[in-house]
Amino acid sequence: MQAGPSLEGAGSGGAGCRQTGICSVGVRDHAPADTGGYGDRLLHPLDAGDCSLHTPVPTGCPFWRGQPACGRSPVAELCLSLTCPFPSVPQKWPTLQALAQASLEEVNELWAGLGYYSRGKRLQEAARKVVSELAGRMPRRAEELQKLLPGVGRYTAGAIASISYGQPTGVVDGNVIRVLCRLRCIGADSSSPAVIDRLWDMANVLVDRSRPGDFNQALMELGATVCVPKSPLCGECPVKQHCQAWRRVEKELAFASQKVFGKAPPVPDVEDCGVGDCPLCPPATEPWDSSLGVTNFPRKAAKKPPRAMRTATCVLERRGCHGAPEYLIVQRPSSGLLAGLWEFPSVPLAQDLQEEKEREELADHLQAWMGQPVAAKGLQFVAEVIHIFSHIHQTYVVYSLHLDGDVTLDPALSPSRWVTEDEFHASAVSTAMKKVLKAHEKQRRKESSPVKVSSAPGCLGPQCCGTASGVLC
Ligand code: SF4
Repeated sequence: MQAGPSLEGAGSGGAGCRQTGICSVGVRDHAPADTGGYGDRLLHPLDAGDCSLHTPVPTGCPFWRGQPACGRSPVAELCLSLTCPFPSVPQKWPTLQALAQASLEEVNELWAGLGYYSRGKRLQEAARKVVSELAGRMPRRAEELQKLLPGVGRYTAGAIASISYGQPTGVVDGNVIRVLCRLRCIGADSSSPAVIDRLWDMANVLVDRSRPGDFNQALMELGATVCVPKSPLCGECPVKQHCQAWRRVEKELAFASQKVFGKAPPVPDVEDCGVGDCPLCPPATEPWDSSLGVTNFPRKAAKKPPRAMRTATCVLERRGCHGAPEYLIVQRPSSGLLAGLWEFPSVPLAQDLQEEKEREELADHLQAWMGQPVAAKGLQFVAEVIHIFSHIHQTYVVYSLHLDGDVTLDPALSPSRWVTEDEFHASAVSTAMKKVLKAHEKQRRKESSPVKVSSAPGCLGPQCCGTASGVLC
């Protein structure tokens, strides 16, 4: 273990922030590490194999958790690097060569419904780069991994280099951010450059030189299972003696109990630098809140609300050769949101369009694409389907259209194909499109039960205006 600054030795406390950026209290509280004992405390439970920190892989965890680093295939390492959410990739393509030769379509099919589709694409791009430009040899140092492999950032590079190749380099992911901010009372916005830089410094100093991979996994597991966002299990925490946030809570509790027993209350030794410009302390406007305890840390800047988007989409249906319905799906462009995935023909809409106008836009889009007239009134409204992407609040305005004859699609436009329901689900389609099909099937079931005739004057029901309620008549 590398020696680091002592917890008690650095800084004198108290005097407020220096204009150099790190306050005198902060020098002590936010110091990169008191390294003595961290590694042992984190690694001991791993070795003993009896701690909740290292239980076998729970559902939903990255598959590599709990697996020994040695002997993992390069594909598994790439999966690790891109937070591949399941073990199917290395099972299907055990070698980099096999993964590099797979089509994006195949990779997307394996990813379908799991979200983070761009990771599948990046995974394959990285495999191709290793095979075609790096003679099949995975880079082993974090710096090279980050520089040479598309989609590999600082965290993923550090994770591969330390876990798979034993480089003594730290990792900082969401769990590590939480743990380190609590250990060192870092209360400034945890996404700010000053905090991120300090966390990386800490991670690089703390990492156990002889077992970096185990240490990094243990630190991430600590955040995932003990130092959790709400109600952390401080009583069971192997590093609580090193934790500034925990100490602060303990001191406050001791102070409160002395007060109850009428003893002369000592001045509590709890400090916020907060004065001046410390880039790591909580802002003076949001000081420590005793009711939150250690969950005062970390703090995040208010999240931007997701962008609202509206898209008209049409379930185009025909009877297949055995009478079963078939649906037309088209492929999205190879870059951007949901790149390369398949969807029902869709067109983005402006936010403030009237329903009639939305319907016309979709009809025009279909018409240009099919090369034959499509009456807006012939589109049957199905439902509005909401899907939340990480940064987009997407509303699909779903219509359906039954085609009697075959249609000739313009081959100059997106690739397209007719699929049965089973084929649809086996295709590289997003969860949002599965929801759209579900809404369509629900509507069809509703229609096959007795239809309540609309009371709208002159409306003949769904065949007339396209809605069961007659709202468009
Ligand atoms: Fe997290 Fe509590 Fe452990 Fe501190 S003592 S690291 S707050 S679980």
